[in-house]
Amino acid sequence: MAKYVYFFGGGKADGNESMKNLLGGKGANLAEMAGHKDLQLPVPPGFTVTTEVCTFYYNNKKTYPKELKKQVEEALARVEKLMGKKFGDAANPLLISVRSGARRSMPGMMDTVLNVGLNDVTIQGLIAKSGNARFAYDAYRRLIMMYADVVMEKAEGIEPKGGKGIRKQLDEMLEQVKHQKGYKNDTELTAGDLKQLVVEFKRKVLDAMGKPFPEDPQAQLWGGLGAVFMSWNGKRAVDYRRIERIPDEWGTAVNVQSMVFGNLGDSSATGVAFTRNPGSGENYFYGEYLVNAQGEDVVAGIRTPAPINDKSTNDQSRHLPTLASIMPENYKKLDEFQKRLEKHYKDMQDIEFTIEEGILYMLQCRVGKRNGVAAVRMATEMYKEKLISAETAIMRVGPNQLVELLLPMLDPAAEKANSPIAKGLPAGPGGARGRVVFTSEDAVAWAARGEKVILVREETSPEDVDGMHKSQAILTSKGGMTSHAALVARGWGKCCVVGCADIEVGRRSVKTRSGLVINEGEWISINGTTGLVYKGSLALVDVDLEHNASYRDLMAICDKIRVMKVRTNADTPKDTAKAVQFGAEGIGLFRTEHMFYGEGSDKPLFLLRKMIMSKTVEERKVALEELSAFVKKDIKATMEVLNGLPVTIRLLDPPLHEFVPHHDEKMAALAAELHVDLAEAKKRGESLHETNPMLGHRGVRLGITYPEVSEMQIRAILEAAGELIKEGKKAYPEIMIPVTCAVTELAHQKKLVDKVYTEVCQKLGLSKIPFMYGTMIEIPRAALTADKMAAAAEFFSFGTNDLTQMSFGFSRDDIGSFLPDYLYNKILPADPFQTIDQDGVGQLIRMGIERGRSARPNLKVGICGEHGGDPDSVKFCHRVGMNYVSCSPFRVPIARLAAAQAAVEEKMAAKKPTLKKTARKFAKKAVKKAAKKKKK
Ligand code: ADP
Ligand code: MG
Ligand code: MG
Repeated sequence: MAKYVYFFGGGKADGNESMKNLLGGKGANLAEMAGHKDLQLPVPPGFTVTTEVCTFYYNNKKTYPKELKKQVEEALARVEKLMGKKFGDAANPLLISVRSGARRSMPGMMDTVLNVGLNDVTIQGLIAKSGNARFAYDAYRRLIMMYADVVMEKAEGIEPKGGKGIRKQLDEMLEQVKHQKGYKNDTELTAGDLKQLVVEFKRKVLDAMGKPFPEDPQAQLWGGLGAVFMSWNGKRAVDYRRIERIPDEWGTAVNVQSMVFGNLGDSSATGVAFTRNPGSGENYFYGEYLVNAQGEDVVAGIRTPAPINDKSTNDQSRHLPTLASIMPENYKKLDEFQKRLEKHYKDMQDIEFTIEEGILYMLQCRVGKRNGVAAVRMATEMYKEKLISAETAIMRVGPNQLVELLLPMLDPAAEKANSPIAKGLPAGPGGARGRVVFTSEDAVAWAARGEKVILVREETSPEDVDGMHKSQAILTSKGGMTSHAALVARGWGKCCVVGCADIEVGRRSVKTRSGLVINEGEWISINGTTGLVYKGSLALVDVDLEHNASYRDLMAICDKIRVMKVRTNADTPKDTAKAVQFGAEGIGLFRTEHMFYGEGSDKPLFLLRKMIMSKTVEERKVALEELSAFVKKDIKATMEVLNGLPVTIRLLDPPLHEFVPHHDEKMAALAAELHVDLAEAKKRGESLHETNPMLGHRGVRLGITYPEVSEMQIRAILEAAGELIKEGKKAYPEIMIPVTCAVTELAHQKKLVDKVYTEVCQKLGLSKIPFMYGTMIEIPRAALTADKMAAAAEFFSFGTNDLTQMSFGFSRDDIGSFLPDYLYNKILPADPFQTIDQDGVGQLIRMGIERGRSARPNLKVGICGEHGGDPDSVKFCHRVGMNYVSCSPFRVPIARLAAAQAAVEEKMAAKKPTLKKTARKFAKKAVKKAAKKKKK
């Protein structure tokens, strides 16, 4: 019989941590905490209904497998026995929670119902047993709220009238009572208040939903179960899955667990904690708690939570007593549990706990979300502590998390010049600026118009995720470091400040403590590392990585393990120096044409134009002669910074027409220089016009028609290198011919190289100038004939931008009009210009390398397209055996990490025993066992 229900509790568990796919993350970890011999933590007993049931439910018109009911009954009976209580019993009722739990945690995206099993009859038993009527009615009113919201409204797909859901309506009733009685906190509500609220809540539910809150505990249990399954396809959960790329097919499990109560008075509490600080990565136990509270209260940001220990205090909670001080015994126990958990899981854990009348229970643990800064620090420190291996440390940091370390922060000078208007808790580091919006919908709409916005709210709820995602930063006035906003921002590495009590959030404006009002649409700036908020738009600057020890440690570990080198695409000494600082081991693409664009390009551009517009070889040679000095100087300056690291210099690549002046006045100056009239100059310019310039007279084709153009560049390169060598410095140029499709092109240009080489050596009196000769592989024909190409080329550099363009037949400059439709309709899984199309273009690359190396075994191979900085593409480059990738300076650290991860992944794949091997091992064991038995 299929097993749909997995029990846990009393030191035992049917499941374990490895069964996340079946039990969901929460269920698998509850089983692990409860049942693993090294843990056996006090987990309230319960059971998990598997994700297979969710799949069944959706495939079978929202029904359950027929065996389910019996399995649930049996498991529930086991729970009742352990707890010494009975579900639905009038005298001694067992209460349960019905909790969602998918494979991967989706914080707050799905629903949970607490206190299931309470009704007008069982509450009497709860009052008698607990001797605490206030608590019992508090639990009851919570059940009605959650049940009405989750089961009766959301699961039914009811769109609340006027946008105000039932939970909000009930919440307002509660707020009204508090207001009438002059209470500040929920805890001040008396048993009488709550009892009255229960009556009114039920009336409201009947009125609003058209049916009563069910009194039957069984109906509550099954209603809750179905609602959790339904919540898998709720709007919030679906939105979140899109963002996080979680497959829709996974489904959720449901955990049914006996309730423990953190709201039984002052010796009870509930909290959330992390085994290390998830914001900074620092290694100390970090957490928040509330006395006399239940479940969601801490996360929902209803009261300011208190710190569990001194190190966890912040500006908002400094006045509150720590858990360590008011419940020292339980704090010690909790601290011991968290240490055990981290050691067991070998990773930072996010923990939920509840203390019921002095007894500590563990309600959840999972690998904690962390931002990039924290991820890097934890990975390197855990490696140094010998908790994890170098390989694990490398795999712990997502390449995109590393991006966060490279993200800008507020300019310290600008911060000094402005005084902050408010201070909150630093929940997501980095800096951001944007215009203030107050609803998630506005954030989405404004961002769609291209506005940079900051979402400002009292607190966020799972409904807000879409707007949060679209915002530059999130600012909330309530909630602590474990609030919803903080949790979600941390997961995304978004700048975020929470619990900013200095501001009062209105409908269309915020007011600060000093009376300053900021209206919708006005700019603010946020420092998520310090929690400071500024009025206006402050400048952003790049972070200072040099002083981040953890980052340096991580890079050192990566460099030890990676096989591929990482170079950069740069063509100025400044970019080159930056890239070398980021760890670049050379230049993979130096574009000679860059000197004709931007700052300082006037003179060389003029000379280039003169060259282009020349009619005769003689004319052209004069122009080239003048231009040569500029090219040489430029290359020399960059090579000097590289100090012997290789630099691949690409000969002139773009179609000449790109450089023809568009203004008459520039054209006139050229005409004068060439001693022709304006009309003639224009005619020469127009004659260069091409219908399809990307496939036109460019790259090596220029070098074939105008060999003197190639010659000039080759001479500039070799002279620059030779001069540096004569000056006692180092240089290593690699001359790269672009846009080739036939080996004969390469042979043609090689003759020029050989000739110039001899001349330069002679001129400089050098016996040798080290250099290499190679080509871009960017035309499919070049990849297909790679064995021939390699006969002439000592290295290949895959120009994957053009290779993609020509393999797909997509014009790179025109994809905007159709690519979005391709992605939306899933015609293509991803933009092939962003991440290498491994199925198609990837085959050309693979084939190109194989054929190339078949002709020249030591052929050096790299990539210089934009893909060189895309982590998935970098990993692909490793797998096909490239020697290096090259990317923009800022992507260099990301490529170093991705290259190291690729090496680790390869190692792991080699280690993984194949199914056959495992089967063989088991067979051997079985034989041994049988033999032993026989002996006996
Ligand atoms: P989420 O996935 O949103 O964190 P949970 O299932 O963890 O949802 O439940 C929400 C809150 O209710 C958490 O704070 C959790 O600790 C609390 N909770 C869940 N089950 C129980 C229980 N059996 N006893 C006490 N508190 C519970
Ligand atoms: Mg929840
Ligand atoms: Mg939880």
